[in-house]
This record gives sequence, structure tokens and C-alpha cells, in this order.
Amino acid sequence: MAQVTLTNVKKVYFGGVEAVKGVSFDIPDGGFCVLVGPSGCGKSTLLRMVAGLETISSGEVTIGNRVVNQIGPAERDIAMVFQNYALYPHMSVYDNMAYGLRNLGTPKDEIDARVKEAARILAIEALLERRPKQLSGGQRQRVAMGRAIVRKPQVFLFDEPLSNLDAKLRVQMRVEIKKLQRALGVTAIYVTHDQVEAMTLSDKLVVMNGGQVEQIGLPAEVYKKPASKFVATFIGSPPMNILPGTIDGPGIVALGEAILEARDLREDLAAGSPVEVGLRPEDIEIASEGEAGSLPFDVEFIEELGATQLFHGKLAGLPFVMQAATDAISAQAGRLWITVNPDRVHVFDVQTGGRLG
Ligand code: ATP
Repeated sequence: MAQVTLTNVKKVYFGGVEAVKGVSFDIPDGGFCVLVGPSGCGKSTLLRMVAGLETISSGEVTIGNRVVNQIGPAERDIAMVFQNYALYPHMSVYDNMAYGLRNLGTPKDEIDARVKEAARILAIEALLERRPKQLSGGQRQRVAMGRAIVRKPQVFLFDEPLSNLDAKLRVQMRVEIKKLQRALGVTAIYVTHDQVEAMTLSDKLVVMNGGQVEQIGLPAEVYKKPASKFVATFIGSPPMNILPGTIDGPGIVALGEAILEARDLREDLAAGSPVEVGLRPEDIEIASEGEAGSLPFDVEFIEELGATQLFHGKLAGLPFVMQAATDAISAQAGRLWITVNPDRVHVFDVQTGGRLG
């Protein structure tokens, strides 16, 4: 069993920087957990504490049934894949992959079998005699993965493993990592600041901000019901529109003159209270001109994305973006009338940024 559990884990660096401020969650055996958040939010520090590369200031990390706080990285039964691959330049691909096993005193035949098996899985059998400098970025990344696989660890740890690859290769490797993790059934923790990677890879998404967890959930849950304005604007691309509004009555918010229905809005909010209203660009629907309940959107310019278009302009006088399929509307600047499904209207507290509905 390789469930990973973090209980009130904190990290205070020398000099007093509180990088991780008491984080608790668990990853079931075979789960894929992605830690996502902006630069400096503490995600690498958290991963490095699980890896044993950083001491834990307080709290507890458990891998399987063992508390590992005092256990060195080599004894934790984990394998880590880094952003810079960390391959030995003077060694062949084969030796890079065999290195860790040789250090553990694994018999030669078994090393050979494991390296060849990993090379087959990763389709790098033809590269085993090459040196890292004779490889492309994607091939190097595969070797780094191969080095992790041969160890047959209980947990894979990934620290932004794709950030040095070009956009196309990133997408390809992302799919390969997910397939590989599924096939091997290994528990994985993956750090990234890329929200697309986070959404597509995870079955448990942990959004971090300022050393704390903002939200934990299935990626679709986090997308549909972001717990805060921070999460709402961090997850989703293009980012959610945030507009100042007021409570107009039960389940109703006002944006200037216009009003919008919002499902599951908290009922204890006084009419007239200021709020922030979040509308995702992809949740906007086109209405017919002047239709009851529709809002006027003045389109200023249009960006062509191929399958869809981004309409930039002003809603109730404020900057606003809508995403729509190319053939849904004749693309031109001017006034459009829009509506939003009440399930897709997000409302946040002005002071705390917390979700109100
Ligand atoms: P990035 O995406 O930029 O790598 P991150 O979310 O992984 O960011 P961390 O590297 O975990 O963030 O850093 C969290 C905080 O801890 C930052 O404020 C950083 O400056 C600080 N920090 C990181 N390493 C150290 C260190 N060795 N000594 C002191 N402060 C550190």
C-alpha cells in the first residue's frame, strides 16, 4: 500500500520564511495528485518534504504505513523526476537508468531486465547506448522517467517535469505520463504551475496559494465550484471574468442596470451588499436582441482561435471576454445580447474572496 498522508505539514525556512503553513490531505494508493499554484506558493517545498530533500518543520508525512519524517530520501521508496532531468552527462542512457539499481546492489541480470523493460515501455530501446547530449529534450525526459520506473517505487514525485519542452511535446508527454502512471498503478504527486496540466493529469487537484491549500477536489469540481475568487481565476483559460455587483434579492445579483440569476446563492446576504460576480468566457450564451434577462455586451475586437473565437469588449461598461464557437454568430464588433445559465454564475465575497454561491 502506498497511500501518502500529510498531516498539518509546515515548513519554516532558515530566516523565518513560512513556505508551507500547515497543509493536510491524503492521496489514495494509485492516485494522481497535482499540486498547482503560482510561483512561490510552496508547492515545490511540499513535494521536497515528501521526497525527504527538505526537513519538515512540524507535522507528519506518511508513505504507506510509515511516518517518514526521520527517514532519508533513499529509504522512502520514492522516485523523483525533475524539470532539468538531472541526467549524468558522461554516462550512456543505459547506465543512467541502471545507476540507482547498481547503488542498491541489485543483481546484474535483474538490472538488465528492468532497464530493458523500462526502455520498451518508453520506446527508447534504440537510444540505450547514447549520451544525454545526443538526445532531444523529449527523449531526455523519457530517460529521466525510465530512471524512475526501473526503481519500481511506491510513489512517483514529479517537479514540473515538462516545463523545458516545447508546447507540442508537452501535450504528448503529458498523455504519456498519465498512461504510464495508470499502467504501473503507482501513486503520483506532480507539481506544476500550468493549470491545463493540473486539470488533465489529476484525479485529486490541490490548489495552493501563499503556503496554504485553497481547495482540494476532483478537477471538474474545482472548475465548476471554485471555493474562492483566487481558484476561480487561476483554474480555467481564458480566465474567469470578475465583475463588481450587488445582491439584488434572493438568488439575484445586479451588474449595474442588469440583473442575473445565481443558483445556490447564500440566503443570508442583505440586498444591496457588494459582491464580485464571476462569469467564465466559455459559459456565455448568445440571446436574441433585447431578450428578457439578457445583458448587452459591446464587442470591441475578436481573436480567432480556430475552433472558437474570443470576443473582447465591455459588459455593463467593464472589460469582458466571451468565448464562442466560430459558426455560432457572425463575427463582428458591435452589440451582442448574452445570457448565462444560473448554475454558471459564481458569486464571491468582496473582502475574503470566498464563494457565496
Ligand atoms: P515555483 O513555481 O516558482 O518553483 P513554488 O510554489 O514551488 O514556486 P517554493 O519553491 O516551494 O514555491 O517556495 C515557497 C517559498 O519559500 C518562496 O517564498 C521561496 O522564496 C521560499 N523558499 C524556497 N526555498 C527557500 C530556501 N532554501 N530558503 C529560504 N526560503 C526559501
